[in-house]
Amino acid sequence: MSFYAYKDVIEEGDLVLAFISRGNIKPINVTKGQTLNTRYGQYDHDRMIGMKYGEQMAGAKGHGFIHLLHPTPELWTLSLPHRTQIVYTHDSSYITQRLGVTSGTRVIEAGTGSASFTHSFARTVGLEGRVFTYEFHEPRFVEAKAEIESHGLDSNTYITHRDVCNDGFEVENIPPRFNSGDGIAGDVVFLDLPSPWDAIPHLPKVISQKSRVGICCFSPCMEQVTKTVEALKENGWISIEMVEVAGRRWEARKEMVRDIDDVLKRIRDIQGRKNQGIEKRRAAKVQDSRKREFSEVESPQESPEPSFQNLTPGYNPFGRGQRVKEGDDKYTWRNVTRIEVDVKSHTSYLTFAYKMPSP
Ligand code: SAM
Repeated sequence: MSFYAYKDVIEEGDLVLAFISRGNIKPINVTKGQTLNTRYGQYDHDRMIGMKYGEQMAGAKGHGFIHLLHPTPELWTLSLPHRTQIVYTHDSSYITQRLGVTSGTRVIEAGTGSASFTHSFARTVGLEGRVFTYEFHEPRFVEAKAEIESHGLDSNTYITHRDVCNDGFEVENIPPRFNSGDGIAGDVVFLDLPSPWDAIPHLPKVISQKSRVGICCFSPCMEQVTKTVEALKENGWISIEMVEVAGRRWEARKEMVRDIDDVLKRIRDIQGRKNQGIEKRRAAKVQDSRKREFSEVESPQESPEPSFQNLTPGYNPFGRGQRVKEGDDKYTWRNVTRIEVDVKSHTSYLTFAYKMPSP
């Protein structure tokens, strides 16, 4: 199974992303005899074998449904074990299109971190392209290497344990299938490091000398951006631009068109309810004083006076009242959008630049 191609039926050893809820996706390696335990129920891996990707699965007691999803880099980003801060899809997709990463592109990435973007690069460049990724923190390097191998990304992704700021990007004994003939020869560079300005001077030895090379440096602080821009200029990079991707979810919906008659109707409705309230309080006072005078007990069957009965809530275009279904063709609607402000994302400044081959 792999992130490059889709398969239909789940087999033992496959990676399944168990979609429990929007904010809770659990990656599982399907293993006979094991069980996924959630607050909604228990899901035996044995039952998953033979099911189709995308299918719904009930818990052991017949309720508590989850979906068994095929892995994609986008879903992996939402479910991966975090070893570091990661690049989310709204940033990675923008960087990918802006740098023109496509099938066959040779990418240089540092550091690997939780390998969120590595998965996305590996899928996008495909089996014709190559990803060279570097991580200097040894436990993270070991975990990322194991993950790359178990997810089958090692056919196009090569991870190196290296401090790129001090020791550069060159790889000794590069496996032949990763060697372009001119070594690494990267077309695109992505740096998600605390000090990209220290890595930039090492790049000329590993980037393509034949075509234009694009770079993106991902930094959370403006001070880092300033130092990165200086380093890019000093090292001959051009067309330097910085952007920030601010993730927003747009919701498309219908809004009822209200006119002056609706306003008048609403004012009359409010007035009616107000009057009713005043009447009710007055009546309660009268009844109370009668009771005290004659020490009589009110009959429970006694029906309320007609003027004190509740008004049935009518159609109210401004809020509470009878519910109207969105799009109901008895009313006029217009299409509007609304943004959901609170979108969880770790955003950084993205500094882009390009380097032309020497004539
Ligand atoms: N882009 C990654 C992702 O999407 O999962 C996250 C990268 S994480 C924020 C930064 C990583 O860079 C850390 O794992 C850190 O150990 C590594 N790092 C920092 N300085 C480095 C250096 N000089 N050489 C190699 N890796 C470095």
